[in-house]
Amino acid sequence: MIKIAEINFNNGLAAGKNRGLQPLEVPAMNDTPSIDSSSPSAAASARPGAVPITVAYGDGIGPEIMEASLRVLLAGGADIAPETISIGEQVYLAGNTAGIEPSAWDSLRRTRVFYKAPITTPQGGGFKSLNVTVRKSLGLYSNIRPCRSYAPYVATRHSGMDLVIIRENEEDLYAGIEHRQTDDVYQCLKLISRPGCEKINRYAFAYARAYGRKKVTCFTKDNIMKLTDGLFHKVFREVAEEYPEIENEHWIIDIGAAKLADTPEAFDVLVMPNLYGDVLSDVAAQIAGSVGLAPSANIGEHCAMFEAIHGSAPRRAGQNVANPSGLLLAGVMMLVHIGQPEAAERVHNAWLKTIEDGIHTYDIFKPGISKVQVSTSGFADAIIERLGQKPAKLDPVTYSGSGEAFPVPTASPRKPAKKVLVGIDVFVQSTTPVDDLAVKMKSGISGAYDLAMITNRGVKVWPQGLPETFCTDHWRCRYLARPDQPFTLEDTLTLLQGLNRAGVDFVKTELLFTFDGEPGYSLGQGQ
Ligand code: NAD
Repeated sequence: MIKIAEINFNNGLAAGKNRGLQPLEVPAMNDTPSIDSSSPSAAASARPGAVPITVAYGDGIGPEIMEASLRVLLAGGADIAPETISIGEQVYLAGNTAGIEPSAWDSLRRTRVFYKAPITTPQGGGFKSLNVTVRKSLGLYSNIRPCRSYAPYVATRHSGMDLVIIRENEEDLYAGIEHRQTDDVYQCLKLISRPGCEKINRYAFAYARAYGRKKVTCFTKDNIMKLTDGLFHKVFREVAEEYPEIENEHWIIDIGAAKLADTPEAFDVLVMPNLYGDVLSDVAAQIAGSVGLAPSANIGEHCAMFEAIHGSAPRRAGQNVANPSGLLLAGVMMLVHIGQPEAAERVHNAWLKTIEDGIHTYDIFKPGISKVQVSTSGFADAIIERLGQKPAKLDPVTYSGSGEAFPVPTASPRKPAKKVLVGIDVFVQSTTPVDDLAVKMKSGISGAYDLAMITNRGVKVWPQGLPETFCTDHWRCRYLARPDQPFTLEDTLTLLQGLNRAGVDFVKTELLFTFDGEPGYSLGQGQ
């Protein structure tokens, strides 16, 4: 057995430093159980003592691009021992709605490094996103997506583009908590936590410092979502103060996205909540040249996963034509992560040289720019032939000795705020006119509080609503404690009992608190 800290499992920058993770007993290659022989080239090439990694060949083009990528990584000197697990379509169709067998978690928890080809999510309901499951189960909170253009060798309108999107990976609307509440209305909860904001914003600044980047830009929509996106922005500002040498700026997401699509060279490192990062990292990869070129790393305090950003491209499957670059460059990120920067550098520079030599797969092949159109395996062969070479025109990469290692950031402990109950929102289903509804909602009142307002889809419609406001069957009725009157949980229960007796069809409640005197709830539009 070897200790994982000795093999430099970490968040992945310079080699040879233990970033303070708990040592984990992992089997060395010669006593590693269950290496699947379905990865013959990879398993045959692993030497005793090599770093175990969990590999999934995925669906569609996955097996072809994984085979090609592992072949290049091993030829480039990667000292890895792949263990293969099955995930994806076959597992889904065998009745496992998570798309991953329980036994696969054993390998992931043992190796803590997952190299994953894309998978196909079967059409139809009932299947959970495997990516979201893996990211959240393993706490992979930071998604890092470098997007660089390779002009003039890969066609793009943005020759100077070289940015990294750091996307929060676990929270936001991706909590996947959805409810149908009334005939008309469905809801998805957007959850943003302070620890989540601290970790991802710290990661972005630590990454920028380690890689010598000059600026971190935050995108949110905090002019509308003042509490959730507002928290993300506030924590961004707090963390930025710890990095005075790094420029920081914030853009409202809509105009920020427009600027990113138009002038990506104006950005360096970008940090943003989950949904915005999901959308904009695909946009950034596409305008850099092709989604087929972009890698991604998913990093957590205990584990990491590396994959291409594209999907399984089923229509191209089995034809040996797909571009393996996204997955291969994810493998380069993985090598840096496990402390093998020399191999990472060798492979990445050989890849750049291959691109520069005009040896291209169909998706980036352009007559006049490209020289030879190659297959997936032919592209891998061309990179292997160039191992040891550097690009002449494109900037070569340097990983060995570059950057300062940084521990995967964690959240700081905080003193809990003083929380005071000041009211309750009661959501009801109703088709009666709002004035009649207000009379009914007041009938439950028997304490030191009042019905303060009723909103429909967030817009105040009582008192003094506008007749033009379109209303659904879903009403939020806000009760607030009278000034200086104590308001307790008992009061809310008494209220709900009264409403129940009055025949009110309530579908949900939210308690309203202040935290250290600050309201922990938003106002209604027009309130
Ligand atoms: P896709 O990324 O698979 O394909 C989009 C387009 O890009 C297609 O025209 C495809 O041919 C092309 N393309 C993608 N990767 C390429 C490559 N390496 N080389 C050349 N061309 C490439 O997106 P999609 O069609 O929306 O999704 C297909 C399947 O992939 C779906 O089941 C989806 O759920 C899944 N998916 C998986 C992941 C993942 O596992 N990480 C990510 C996205 C989509």
